[in-house]
Amino acid sequence: MADPMQQARQLLPCPFCGSSDSEMQQAQAEHYVQCLECEASTSLLGSRREARELWNRRAALRAAPEWQPMETAPRDGTAVLVAIDGSDIPQPCRFRERVGWVIAWDEWRIPAHDGPLGWMPLPAAARPQGVKDAT
Ligand SMILES: [Zn+2]
Repeated sequence: MADPMQQARQLLPCPFCGSSDSEMQQAQAEHYVQCLECEASTSLLGSRREARELWNRRAALRAAPEWQPMETAPRDGTAVLVAIDGSDIPQPCRFRERVGWVIAWDEWRIPAHDGPLGWMPLPAAARPQGVKDAT
């Protein structure tokens, strides 16, 4: 049986290319995880644990997108999909300072009683490859 402590130290496969050839790297006092196959990496973090957690969180989201608690949603204006109470359609939203969560299309503010209940990242490519602009 796998040792859970050891399992927690493992790096999940690369969220971009799927390679398991990723390594903890160090740059002076900071740490990051980098894929040796496609060179994708995390940002620089203060500890190996943080770097590993960031890498694995990204990898897990990529592998099986699931609704994440709103407390962990990005609040820097990045568009994400959110689940809204009473709607079966995920909505593209952003967080606006002093306003709250708004629908990305028209900035309509989501009332507090509608959530959002959870979030997930947008699919990697907003436009599938091969789709051209209508001209
Ligand atoms: Zn990779």
